[in-house]
Amino acid sequence: MRIILLGPPGCGKGTQGDLVEKRFGYPKVSTGDILRRAVADRTPLGIRAETLMNKGFLVNDEIVIGLVGERISRPDCREGYVLDGFPRNIFQAQGLEEMDPGRREIVIEIKVDEAALINRLESRRVCSGCGAVYNLKFYRPAQDGVCEACGGVFSRREDDRAEVIAERLRVYKEQTEKLVDYYLKKGVYHGVGGEGTVEDVFGRIAALLNDGAGKAGENRARP
Ligand code: AMP
Repeated sequence: MRIILLGPPGCGKGTQGDLVEKRFGYPKVSTGDILRRAVADRTPLGIRAETLMNKGFLVNDEIVIGLVGERISRPDCREGYVLDGFPRNIFQAQGLEEMDPGRREIVIEIKVDEAALINRLESRRVCSGCGAVYNLKFYRPAQDGVCEACGGVFSRREDDRAEVIAERLRVYKEQTEKLVDYYLKKGVYHGVGGEGTVEDVFGRIAALLNDGAGKAGENRARP
């Protein structure tokens, strides 16, 4: 099973991907996380990607397809995986099908209106220690600015600045939104409302996965 979480920046794909991984056992594969790690590690790829990411542009398709191909060929992805942030355009979607043909798939778009997205992204903070994601407006840790999981300090993603957010939303509309039609035609598309609490949204996603929309629930649900 391949679960593709689709939706604009800030819709909650990363958070929901983590919950799907926990509940259904499919590893989350996030291209944004893989790229941010490469940037932090100062690898040659990371150094090249950093400028593009900080401007809100997409990283080269071949590079990203290569990263995903490497990740999903690992043994833990044999039964399936959850994609967060990939594919971002039709070329990447086709690349995915070529790399891993014939796999059952379900695409779930998390729908959130633009004003709410901007609001969420501007108040998003990330733990510089463990990468846990917080939101100053919706969830404050017990001690301000300190991660509850590891005690690390908060930082703001470089691309969560207002002008970069606007560019990321523009790129989403121009390139990624076309995937809705693409997957509708394939008959694998489902949409869920992204409003409400994290648990509310996860309830909608889990219901889809459990009710056999993609038959993803098959005996994989953990208590
Ligand atoms: P995200 O964490 O998914 O919002 O991604 C952060 C940034 O990483 C994006 O704005 C892009 O610059 C880059 N990126 C992530 N996924 C992809 C992808 N599938 N294709 C191209 N660039 C990507």
